[in-house]
Amino acid sequence: MLEPLRRIVHEVSAAHNLAEALALIVDRVKPAMQADVCSVYLTDPETGEHVLMETDGLRPSAVGRVRLLPNQGLVGLVASRAEPINLDNASGHPHFQFIASTGEAPFHGFLGVPIIRRGTTLGVLVVQQREARRYTGDEESFLATLAAQLAGSISLAEVRQRLESLDTGTLIGTVFLEGVASTRGLGIGEAVVVFPDTALDSVPDKRVSDPEAEIKRFNKAVTTEVAELHKLSDQLADVLSASDRALFDAYALLLSSDSLVEGTVARIRQGIWAPAALRHTISEFADVFEEMDDAYLADRAADIRDLGRRLLQRLQRTAGREREYPEHTVLMGEEISVSQFLEVPQGQLVGLVSVNGTSASHVALLARGLSIPAVFGLQSAPLERLNGRQVVVDGYSARVCVHPGPTLIEEYRRLAEEEAELSQELESLLDQPAVTTDGHYYRLLANAGLHADVAAARDRHAHGIGLYRSELHFYLRDSFPGEDEQTATYRRVLQTMAPAPVMLRTLDVGGDKPLPYYPIEEANPFLGWRGIRISLDQTDIFKTQLRAMLRASAVHPNMGIMFPMISCISELTKALAVLHDAHNELIEDGIQINFPQVGIMVEVPSAAYMIGTLARMVDFIAIGSNDLTQYILAVDRSNVRVAQLYDSLHPAVLFTLNHVCRQAHAATCPVSVCGEMAGDPAGALALMGMGIDSFSMSLGNLLKIKWVIRSFSYEEARGLLRQALQMDSAQQVRAQMNRALDERGLGGLVRAGH
Ligand code: PEP
Ligand code: MG
Repeated sequence: MLEPLRRIVHEVSAAHNLAEALALIVDRVKPAMQADVCSVYLTDPETGEHVLMETDGLRPSAVGRVRLLPNQGLVGLVASRAEPINLDNASGHPHFQFIASTGEAPFHGFLGVPIIRRGTTLGVLVVQQREARRYTGDEESFLATLAAQLAGSISLAEVRQRLESLDTGTLIGTVFLEGVASTRGLGIGEAVVVFPDTALDSVPDKRVSDPEAEIKRFNKAVTTEVAELHKLSDQLADVLSASDRALFDAYALLLSSDSLVEGTVARIRQGIWAPAALRHTISEFADVFEEMDDAYLADRAADIRDLGRRLLQRLQRTAGREREYPEHTVLMGEEISVSQFLEVPQGQLVGLVSVNGTSASHVALLARGLSIPAVFGLQSAPLERLNGRQVVVDGYSARVCVHPGPTLIEEYRRLAEEEAELSQELESLLDQPAVTTDGHYYRLLANAGLHADVAAARDRHAHGIGLYRSELHFYLRDSFPGEDEQTATYRRVLQTMAPAPVMLRTLDVGGDKPLPYYPIEEANPFLGWRGIRISLDQTDIFKTQLRAMLRASAVHPNMGIMFPMISCISELTKALAVLHDAHNELIEDGIQINFPQVGIMVEVPSAAYMIGTLARMVDFIAIGSNDLTQYILAVDRSNVRVAQLYDSLHPAVLFTLNHVCRQAHAATCPVSVCGEMAGDPAGALALMGMGIDSFSMSLGNLLKIKWVIRSFSYEEARGLLRQALQMDSAQQVRAQMNRALDERGLGGLVRAGH
């Protein structure tokens, strides 16, 4: 049953609109289930009614007319219980409701399964048969699995249809795309859809002004690819058998056959850019093969897709890396890499939208650092239709508006102005100390990773850089930077902030931010080779970085070094040994350098519980609450499916942070928090209560947090923390903290605008 399932899902996900998707579903499911009827009911989100949207087997005239109340009939029961109902004789069930217009009287066997997407029931998929027979367990799970997988495709088709109606003028208004997470703020601009070089399905639709030049570009890619395939085949002559090498020849043959090339060229001639024309042709071809009953031929579909990816890569290469970005760019993609983000010239990026990822993923942190609003976990986003459209990134309610009308834009502008007013009011705090009403002082530091961040932090009177993410510099290049280059970079950073302290974190790659030139393939990247683990295994790279940091500090001694992802004592011992080696080597070379302040990031639960020993081995502790939260709660910080479970205000996280803080202080070791929690007003209240020494955050939040600190007493914050530690959930803690902020007149920090 797996193959038909995969095939149906694939076909439906490629449907251009809802009608096509639903027609495909009933057409394919009915024979696969050997049913006499297959119907799809969709639930009207406003009325809750279940509308018969498509059927094969019931009267076609009933489509669109039959509307069942939320709890009416067996369909209503499937939806309200959100579970399958499998009956040998439907009419014998007390919930059965006879509806004459459908002509369903002669059918007995009934199986209905809910279509659920991220917790919301979208509708019900039903199969019926004349025979009075229950469907088997296997059949039931097949239909339930299918419905679960179709849910995404149905919503996608619905949005595609709405966008199409907008284009043809049959729909006036805006299409809203809902996300699950966001970083605060509003961005209005033109969508630029980015995609990995090999993701053919994510290629957006675009028009070209000079189709003939585009055809030339495509033909050149084909010729080069054919030559490359022949070359590969020859090179591998000694290694592969003739039959294995046949694949290359088959690819080359496919490319030499006119149909694939001509189909693409014909599309380009209509003004479509080559990658999208290729996407259409490859998908058409692959579908034809996939539908073949012969298993060998059906498998060739994968080869065709692979060939498509190779050609796409080649086309991308000929396009050159320099892209043109509109003045107000909203970057969109299935997943946006740190390098794609950094490729947009500073000042032109006004928003970020990603289907995957969450507000805790690294690209989100970058966005927040540069005050760029972002929406993540976009549900049902037909990316291929969005390129070039005007969009609003609404980071307050985690949604994206496509084609916003003038009234909506006006409304958003008003909101943006309110936000600007709030920031303006906060400017008066710039020169004020971060002190509570009862005289407790905190240090407010900035997180940085690019030189521009550092200069801005200095200009905004940050007390220093609490976290310098050194890896960002590594993303701007095509290979590892050498010692001299790194020295110059760190020297500039230290000099910009001097004499204020700068905590340089050693390379923290892996997890959700592998380096493009150092790919790491792992099943569980967050539990794998990342942070200090890589540095300790690649001591050459590690030592080069440490030497560069030390050399930079020879002139500007305002430097601290910290190690990310420490999970045991021996890792710290080894890291310190490499640092001592690097230091000794430099001294031997005659360079006078003081040994720097050294700290660790506490991001792993094991480090939190070994903190007593660790704190005695270092000069400072920096809590990385982003990672610590993901590891305590076992919630991948960049996975949208579980984004609602990720919250640093979870009592278990607070309990751990409080423990770290007390133990470190007992060892007279200062503590800072440099995860996003430090810049979140509710999180900051809890951290104040723990008595941490410094907050390190995205610069845009600095004055907001100063306002929080200056509005409460230390004793009040301690009281709020005590209560939070007794609570059952992050929601309760958040509500309590937000209430306290609101009552103190700081509601503007919690809601959009004032
Ligand atoms: C953290 O984990 O909280 C942290 C500051 O490090 P990063 O977000 O860069 O992983
Ligand atoms: Mg981290």
